[in-house]
Amino acid sequence: MIAFFDACRQWAEIQRDVIKAIDRVGRRGRWVLDREVSLFERKLSPWFNGRPVVACASGLDALELALRGVGVAPGDRVLTTPVSAFATTQAILRVGALPVFSDVDASGLIDLNLAYQVLRRNPAIRYFLPVHLYGQSLDPVKLIQIQRDLGVTIIEDCAQALGSHVGDRGAGTTGAVAAVSFYPTKNLGALGDGGAVIFRSKTLAKQARWRRDYGQKEKYCHVTFGMNSRLDELQAAILNRAMLPRFARWNERRAHIAKRYCGEIRSSSLHIPTFQRSTTWHIFPVYVRENRVSFVRHMKRRGVQTAVHYPTLIPRQPLFRRGKGFEFATRLLRAEDIVRQEVSLPVHPWMTERDIDCVISAVRAWKE
Ligand SMILES: *Cc1c(COP(=O)(O)O)cnc(C)c1O
Repeated sequence: MIAFFDACRQWAEIQRDVIKAIDRVGRRGRWVLDREVSLFERKLSPWFNGRPVVACASGLDALELALRGVGVAPGDRVLTTPVSAFATTQAILRVGALPVFSDVDASGLIDLNLAYQVLRRNPAIRYFLPVHLYGQSLDPVKLIQIQRDLGVTIIEDCAQALGSHVGDRGAGTTGAVAAVSFYPTKNLGALGDGGAVIFRSKTLAKQARWRRDYGQKEKYCHVTFGMNSRLDELQAAILNRAMLPRFARWNERRAHIAKRYCGEIRSSSLHIPTFQRSTTWHIFPVYVRENRVSFVRHMKRRGVQTAVHYPTLIPRQPLFRRGKGFEFATRLLRAEDIVRQEVSLPVHPWMTERDIDCVISAVRAWKE
């Protein structure tokens, strides 16, 4: 079986470096907020034009720190996408704000032209939380327009798009703040949870540092609402010493696989979105026009594990029973198509050429 994400092959590659990293932290004997975390924050900073990086315990926490940092308050409206990991909306709910959903475009990302119209029509919505979905960069020019023309504060969800860029502008460097995740299956994953928040403002970055550690400015002096959201030294050491040195090569491998898929998969029953923008190929989506269930079953029979990102529109989650707790800014017609049609093919860096052949021939063999 070709795994959707092959953690065992990954382990075989990184094992020695991970054990060395753990030993290094163990010998020093400091497990929380020490050298490895600061080193990791410094190593990440160049992706964000040198902005200060504040590491924390997860991508969800990073989004919460981001929203609290820019001042989102209970009852505030935050425009966002209905097609994402639930965490994007969860963070809005955690600060007591109201998610407002707007439709996506053909590539599955929030439609920025539509979002512009919505935000212009509704000056009550002061915050915008777009997602660089599947690893694709959103168009920075349009994000800048929203920010500049409408004075809306942008919080970028870069959990799937670390290192993705358009020209020399990286995902996460346009808005007021960006959040990333180091969940194990992300392009840069830890061996457990982790995240980071990156503010444009140094002052807000400093406050996020307090906030991740009980809101204390110095030991036993609590100046703001706080969380316990610290990245472990162990995870930071693993990221620094086992993952980061391989990150570029892994991304190249993903790009190679994606290129082969784009060139060699021909099928009239499914559609491969042509990504206009730069992507890190966190996910390789195909849209199956009819009968996704049968496609997934067919791939499984051919020994290929697939996934779906995502099977349910966020506002249709059972949590929102009775349609309360959110608002629609537009109809979600394209989003409905995407949640009905999307299937993610394996695109992890440990696939062999034979694995790639096998996925391609399996897709080609499918007749709906
Ligand atoms: C993974 C993910 C998150 C949440 O990250 P965690 O580290 O799992 O909390 C948020 N947004 C998107 C788009 C994600 O893919």
